[in-house]
Amino acid sequence: TLKKSLGQHFLKDENICHKIVQALQEHPFQRLLEVGPGGGALTKYLLQLPDIEFKCVELDEEKVTWLLKTYPALQSKIIHQDFLTVDQPYSEPFTVVGNFPYNISSQILFKVLDWKASVQVVVGMFQKEVAQRVVAGEGSKVYGILSVLVQAFFDVEYLFEVSENAFNPPPKVKSAVIRLTPRQTIPDMKSERSFFVLVKTAFNQRRKMLRNAVKSLYTPEALQDPIFDKRAEQLTVNDFARLTFTMK
Ligand code: SAM
Repeated sequence: TLKKSLGQHFLKDENICHKIVQALQEHPFQRLLEVGPGGGALTKYLLQLPDIEFKCVELDEEKVTWLLKTYPALQSKIIHQDFLTVDQPYSEPFTVVGNFPYNISSQILFKVLDWKASVQVVVGMFQKEVAQRVVAGEGSKVYGILSVLVQAFFDVEYLFEVSENAFNPPPKVKSAVIRLTPRQTIPDMKSERSFFVLVKTAFNQRRKMLRNAVKSLYTPEALQDPIFDKRAEQLTVNDFARLTFTMK
């Protein structure tokens, strides 16, 4: 039985599965984590990759039982749990892949940010709107918290779009696959914590002049900086990073 609340849309287009695996293989890795294997559309290919340590996280008990029966190689490799509550599955660097459940896309990205010290690459299918937000640049209507937080730490690539018909059942929205790879150099910032606080506060009132949106975080003197005449959506990732240094 299909569980809508779990965002279950299973890939039936083998060509799309191949394209995802290909995008994954462009960056070598030794350990892999799949989020939401579901019916195993991707898993069956991932298990064939040579010399890769594999784990996956699936919340739906019915799917876990089915996967174990169908792919005996998955024994002890399935974590039957909510991905949002799992501990980092490997202590050494690992890659993340998934046709993600769309209802928790942002939380998945925040989890990846938590683990960023160990995450090598992420290749993931998202609802198209979320994928667009992740890769958006300043000035774009969809540029926001996700864009800035992810792009501060990862290079982002919008790889390809996927039509509703590639899934069973077809979702109401279009999808897109993106890839994140850790940046070589992360912009200088006072601390990650202050960066996160600043970005979230700035975008919580994205239509306000920045000076008003973030005034609780700065002294009146610091707020003289003319950059505060702008709105959050006009600032680059580097602007935000620089502005952490004058925070209270
Ligand atoms: N990978 C499969 C495919 O491409 O056909 C399934 C993708 S489906 C969009 C999302 C999968 O994530 C489902 O199998 C669903 O049960 C699982 N899922 C949903 N919420 C989850 C969560 N919080 N933690 C782990 N898995 C979850």
